Amino acid sequence: MGEERNWAGNVRYRGAVAHPATLDEARALITTGSPVRMLGTRHCFNDIADTTGTLIALDQLPSVFEVTPERDAVRVSGALRYGDIAPRLEAEGLALANLASLPHISVAGAVSTGTHGSGDAIGSLASAVRELTLLTASGELLTLRRGEPRFAGAVVGLGALGAVLELVLDVEPTYQVAQRVFDRPRWDEILGDLDAVTSAGTSVSIFTTWQRTDSADQLWIKQRGAADLAGDLPARLGSVAADAKRHPILGVDAVACTDQGGVPGCGISGCRTSGWSSPRRPVSSCRASTSCRAATPWRHCRRSAGWPTASHRCCW
Ligand SMILES: Cc1cc2nc3c(=O)[nH]c(=O)nc-3n(C[C@H](O)[C@H](O)[C@H](O)COP(=O)(O)OP(=O)(O)OC[C@H]3O[C@@H](n4cnc5c(N)ncnc54)[C@H](O)[C@@H]3O)c2cc1C
Repeated sequence: MGEERNWAGNVRYRGAVAHPATLDEARALITTGSPVRMLGTRHCFNDIADTTGTLIALDQLPSVFEVTPERDAVRVSGALRYGDIAPRLEAEGLALANLASLPHISVAGAVSTGTHGSGDAIGSLASAVRELTLLTASGELLTLRRGEPRFAGAVVGLGALGAVLELVLDVEPTYQVAQRVFDRPRWDEILGDLDAVTSAGTSVSIFTTWQRTDSADQLWIKQRGAADLAGDLPARLGSVAADAKRHPILGVDAVACTDQGGVPGCGISGCRTSGWSSPRRPVSSCRASTSCRAATPWRHCRRSAGWPTASHRCCW
């Protein structure tokens, strides 16, 4: 049993972690014939990344970030985190269509496990992948592109098919998002037409601490652009518009949260307003997709353990 653990601390990895600094070093590790697994940013709660042999983390390989000449895609290293690439895309006037609940996860690890954000009409993170380059168990480089027969199965490959060295992700022009928060939507109304609720915006989140039996705590609706497409749905759920800025977790100070009340803000720049948090690490993370304010995209935020550099801040 090794000493290394996953992010949550609930899995103690059996294998030793190696950080190859070159492709040749990675190839040498992978082709030994001993058990190996790829390790990303360790955010899986289970032992899927573990093995008795070597856990190979690619975070020391030279990093790649190249926007295509057409500016509709970006080539990135698998070990880069969404928190690394989202601000760089924003600086280019570009954005990903969706992101998950926090910026600390590696692109390869997230895509390999089918990680998703929220939003009925937005695909999972894997759906943005148009090409991936694998270092296979035999040490060869294998590039698979969208539309090829083996592509779909390889994208969400659970780390079982080799090392994902690079991915090419679809991007689009950056966009504005407005978010609205409503208190105490009734469970019976929500469950009576769940599809209507989850499709009421570009991204819809229902937060609950299970303290009430008749209602959730909050309904967050985020919409591209300033339009309020939810109409009277919140009222039909018995909820009322929040009278002040809210944090997704009741009782936590909302100072780190981005604007609510339907004020449009800059699109994807590494922050998502309905972010993940936990009692253990309150306000330590941000969802990486939408709703930063254009003028102050990284304000009011505390760093979390996994945040890549001191210069990056995050917001909800
Ligand atoms: C606080 C928290 C919030 C989360 N929020 C969300 C969320 O909003 N939505 C959601 O869907 N999930 C969420 N998750 C789950 C998370 O997205 C997945 O666990 C994801 O796999 C994390 O990526 P990672 O790089 O940390 O992967 P790791 O835990 O390091 O590895 C996961 C898997 O990916 C493989 N892998 C990693 N790197 C590579 C590589 N370079 N090549 C090939 N395979 C590789 C590993 O072998 C392993 O099988 C959350 C997890 C946490 C802890």
